[in-house]
Amino acid sequence: MDYKHIFQAAIDRLHDEGRYRVFIDILRTRGKYPDAQCFGGNGPKPITVWCSNDYLGMGQHPAVLTAMEEALHDVGAGSGGTRNIGGNTHYHVELEAELASLHGKEAALLFTSGYVSNEAALSTLGKLLPGCVIFSDELNHASMIAGIKNSGCEKRVFRHNDLAHLEELLEGEEPGTPKLIAFESVYSMDGDVAPIAAICDLADRYGALTYLDEVHAVGMYGEHGGGISERDAVADRVTIIEGTLGKAFGVMGGYIAADRNIVDCIRSYAPGFIFTTSLSPVLVAGALASVRHLKASAMERDAQQDAAAMLKRKFADAGLPVMESVTHIVPLLVGCPVKAKRISDVLLAEYGLYVQPINYPTVPRGTERLRFTPGPWHSEDKQDELVGALVEIWDRLELKAAA
Ligand code: PMP
Repeated sequence: MDYKHIFQAAIDRLHDEGRYRVFIDILRTRGKYPDAQCFGGNGPKPITVWCSNDYLGMGQHPAVLTAMEEALHDVGAGSGGTRNIGGNTHYHVELEAELASLHGKEAALLFTSGYVSNEAALSTLGKLLPGCVIFSDELNHASMIAGIKNSGCEKRVFRHNDLAHLEELLEGEEPGTPKLIAFESVYSMDGDVAPIAAICDLADRYGALTYLDEVHAVGMYGEHGGGISERDAVADRVTIIEGTLGKAFGVMGGYIAADRNIVDCIRSYAPGFIFTTSLSPVLVAGALASVRHLKASAMERDAQQDAAAMLKRKFADAGLPVMESVTHIVPLLVGCPVKAKRISDVLLAEYGLYVQPINYPTVPRGTERLRFTPGPWHSEDKQDELVGALVEIWDRLELKAAA
């Protein structure tokens, strides 16, 4: 068997389709978000980052950095093992209590990432509910899809945010069948939002549980940063809320929040929780400081919303193809992976502006895009610099004519 050839052919396919991913070599500059340094070529070069999911710059916030430094000083680097063996660190206990209260739930459980939370929670829930059918929005994240697959449950995929289609599928099942509806609040590539209350209405009507991924909304929406479910006052209607500590909270880790006995089941049965070293207490201490800060301070999320609204306006005024988005995500449609990569390359090489192109399978073919995430510290000057650069590149590459 020519294994070498098989692997090379797989890589060549990506190159041929313009989808081969290249990761830049970058260092963020402490306290100077969104400035960073890019390595390669002739030594480090200063750049501005326009695509970070550290949406609020909390990964550089003094309260977060101090908490992490103190934890490192006080208790050292690692957690020492799985929680099964090493126990809970006190930071874990405190953060789980904080997250449960953020979402108005009885309990919360930490995982090493948002991906792991979704995979572990959904696969375990499905296994605990014999004969369960899982209803999944067609744009759900890969981690939810993996969890659903590993649950072994039957899956019904409903068209994105399409309540009529979801109802039709729910109606098709026997009334006594256990059911779970899995969906996201903010969809991160288009920036649209799920009708959470209406989905909960359907769940009530058809006796289904609800599982809501708030990864792109926690810290960002709601009076205390509890996400869209807090903003829309529906958190109590959602059975399980899942979130990340790696995006708006700026650190790393994932979690679920729900009734105590559901959380206890996942703690007790989920391999993705049980058999892996728990998060470093340094990370948990940083996340705890971040969650507490954003619970009390709306300044960062308000400034971020203003920055996103301004950038959308500036793109539209400049005639750039900004996609409809009702959230903090600002996508520009390119519609071709090769062009999206070319724009991204020119922005970085000539203007020192970094945005990673988004290609299939993250988005459907033909909708390749550049996804901007302006933060509270992207000033109007920085926005003008970005818009000016994009207009020049759009003209140079004759993208308007091609569109
Ligand atoms: N859910 C969604 C909707 C996501 O977009 C992501 C990450 N991009 C995840 C879950 C996984 O979160 P994490 O990065 O913390 O693993």
